[in-house]
Order: sequence, then structure tokens, then C-alpha cells
Amino acid sequence: MKLVIQKYGGTSVGSIERILSVAQRIKKWRSNNYALVVVTSAMSGETNKLLGLISGISKNNNKWSREIDQVVSSGEQVAAGLLAVALNEIGVPSVSFTGWQVAIKTNSAHSKARINSIDTEMIMTEINNNKVVVVTGFQGVNNCGSITTLGRGGSDTSAVALAAALNAQECLIFTDVDGVYTTDPRIVPEANRLAKITFEEMLEMASLGSKILQIRSVEFAGKFKVRTRVLSSLTNYDIPIEKESISGTLITHEEDKKMENAVISGIAFNRDEAKITITGVPDTPGVAFRILGPIAKANIDVDMIIQNSSNDGSTDFSFTVNRVDLDEATRVIETKVKSEINALDISSDNQICKVSVVGIGMRSHVGVASQMFEVLSNEGINIKMISTSEIKISVVIDDKYMELAVRSLHDAFGLEKK
Ligand code: ADP
Ligand code: ASP
Ligand code: MG
Repeated sequence: MKLVIQKYGGTSVGSIERILSVAQRIKKWRSNNYALVVVTSAMSGETNKLLGLISGISKNNNKWSREIDQVVSSGEQVAAGLLAVALNEIGVPSVSFTGWQVAIKTNSAHSKARINSIDTEMIMTEINNNKVVVVTGFQGVNNCGSITTLGRGGSDTSAVALAAALNAQECLIFTDVDGVYTTDPRIVPEANRLAKITFEEMLEMASLGSKILQIRSVEFAGKFKVRTRVLSSLTNYDIPIEKESISGTLITHEEDKKMENAVISGIAFNRDEAKITITGVPDTPGVAFRILGPIAKANIDVDMIIQNSSNDGSTDFSFTVNRVDLDEATRVIETKVKSEINALDISSDNQICKVSVVGIGMRSHVGVASQMFEVLSNEGINIKMISTSEIKISVVIDDKYMELAVRSLHDAFGLEKK
């Protein structure tokens, strides 16, 4: 029997009606003789609701991180149990487990834990008993037996990690769109669904802000060569299995010929960052380290960095951090850096966004960056920062121009529906 992992996201299990539809879809796969492990997210809106309850009591997320994980992990437990009941009701034997029951073992970084290993014994016993095993996404357990969660969108990672651990034939990520698009179809309705995308491109798209898959799930899929497909749970559940199993977007390891021809595969955007600028910094060796060392010590990730030297021996130094870290990063610079390096001033901007074009075709094409800059210039959009890699170009611009920039670039690079 072929084993597949199926993951259903929040919208896919967002109501009793949707859970019943998921159960019917699973029944169809079982009748076609597939063994199934199903990973479920919390019903849509539940995780936010649970986080809202917590913030009504405390804003101190770092201090109570263990208890917060106890609370936010519960949404998935409800959805998994409901789905198992729905399956049993329609004659599909099923059992649900939480991440700690399985056990999905993680490190202790509450709210952003990493999976270290998965015990497969209990799952395999139930599969051999012909049961569909439903596992809660988004969570695991650390060495002390505390529940941990894997970060927002973490059920994708649970699913791909289970697929790797169980050596499944494929991991199917069922969601509320019918695949990975050239950009978020909510922003550009003309966006095109990609039949295939390479892991490298998907990894860039995810890390540059496309929330369709959690970054870590793509890393797992690449590392363990898990065949992963993104597809819709909103189609009729009785769509023939031959059709369903080739629908959506396949994340592939091969760069096939057709894909090489596409210079740009997609456009990602990210509104989660903020920029800090330190002006009048003496332009001396080691200054970058003296600024970013204390930031790293405070456990704050830095994304883009820009430094401009001027003739008067001083420099302006800007870098971006996640918006949630802005206050702490500013505090560190004010208290531990500013007087140390004799800087003139510090300012911050959280009304920025990062827009990126991604494509492996860039390796063999010149002029992509200048085309991108020309499009933004024609729209009168000022570029505040630029960073490039072999397969992506990112710019930081004013947040208010985000949609305009994404639409214009999508159009200029010919990504719209033909
Ligand atoms: P789930 O709850 O199933 O995990 P998510 O909301 O996490 O679903 O991810 C699906 C959403 O991702 C879509 O509704 C879409 O708005 C968004 N999205 C962002 N970028 C893309 C993209 N390039 N292609 C498709 N969807 C995208
Ligand atoms: N329920 C979690 C979240 O909303 C995990 C997930 O949906 O993947 O982030
Ligand atoms: Mg998601």
C-alpha cells in the first residue's frame, strides 16, 4: 500500500461542513487503497483567537512561552479530534494523536521550535491496523515533556517532517488556493498557477514572504527529498483521484527545460520588516561589528544591511529587522551602541516592505535587476535598499507602494495569465 501524508490548513478545516468534506476526500483516497497520515491545522481563526486570550492576560510572551505553547497548541487538538470523529462516522477507521503523543521531538525554543526526531512506531502500528492516523500539526514536545510549537504556519513543517520520517510516497499540502502562484493571487488576481516550481525557488519565495508554505517545511522537503505538492481542498471532494493527484503545484528537484526558459518564476513581498538607520557613524574598521554584535547578542535576526561612506570620514548605516524586534533593536542601539561608536543620530521606519523577484532563470540572463529598477522608477517608487543573490533581487520600498510595485513587476515580467 502506498503511504501519503495529507495536510489540511485552517480554511480547509474551518467549519464542520469543511471537516465533513475533508473526511469524504480522505475516504476516497482510502478506497483507492492509500494508507494515510493526515496532519491538520487549527480551524481558521482559532490560533489568533487563542493568542488574543493570552494577550488579554499578559504581553510578556518571552517569559511565559511554555504556557503560551500549551494554549496555542490546543486549536490543532480540537481539529484533529473532530476530523477523526468525522472519519469514524462515515466508516473510515481513524485515530487522532497530538504531537506529544506521537512523539514529535523538538528543541526547547518555544513558539519557534525545531523538530529533531519523530517516533514512528505508534503511527505505523495504527496504519497496520488499517486506520487513518490524524496528527495535530504545528507542535511537538521537548526533552522535558513540555509542548512546543513550531512557529506560525508550522503545520506545513509537521507534514513534511512526517513524510520524511515515514518515508511516504508524497506529501500533499491541501490549502485554500489550487497551488503556488506567480504571486499572491489575493494581491494580483491575474497571477498564474505554476505547475512546477523548484525547491530553490520555493525556498526563496517562502523566505522572502510568500506565506503559502512555511520556510522550514521547504527546507525539510529539500533536505530529505520529500515529493511535495500544493493543491486545493476546496474542489469537489469526489474529483477523480487520477486528476487530483496531478493537480496543483509540484515542488520539484529537477530544473526542467521549460522552467529554465522562465527568467522570473514569481514575486514575493514581505511587510514584516522595519529599518533602523544610524547616521554620522565614524567610518573606521570594525564599526559594522560594533553595531551588529550587540544586536546578534540580543538574539535579533538582521536581514538587509546597507552602509554608505562619505568623503568626510563618516558613514550612514542601515539594517532591517523583523517588526516585532524593532523596539528591542532600537533600545540596544540607543543604550549599547550609540555613544560607544560616537554616532550622531538613530531613526527607524516601520512603514516599509520588501518586494522580491525570484527565478533560477536569472542565472543565465543579465539585465533583470535593471529591468526591475526601471519598472519601479516608471511608477515613481523610491528604492531604499537593494539585495541580490544568484536567483533573487529584493528591494525595500515604502509600504504604501507595495501593491503597485508587485502588480507592475508582475506585468512587466510577463507573469500574468495568458
Ligand atoms: P493554510 O491555512 O492552508 O496553511 P495559508 O493561508 O497559510 O493556508 O496559505 C495559503 C494562502 O497563501 C493563500 O490563500 C494565498 O493568499 C497566500 N499566498 C501567498 N503567496 C502565494 C503564492 N505565491 N501562491 C499562492 N498563494 C499564495
Ligand atoms: N494554526 C497554526 C497557525 O495559525 C499553524 C498552521 O496553521 O500551520 O499558524
Ligand atoms: Mg499555512
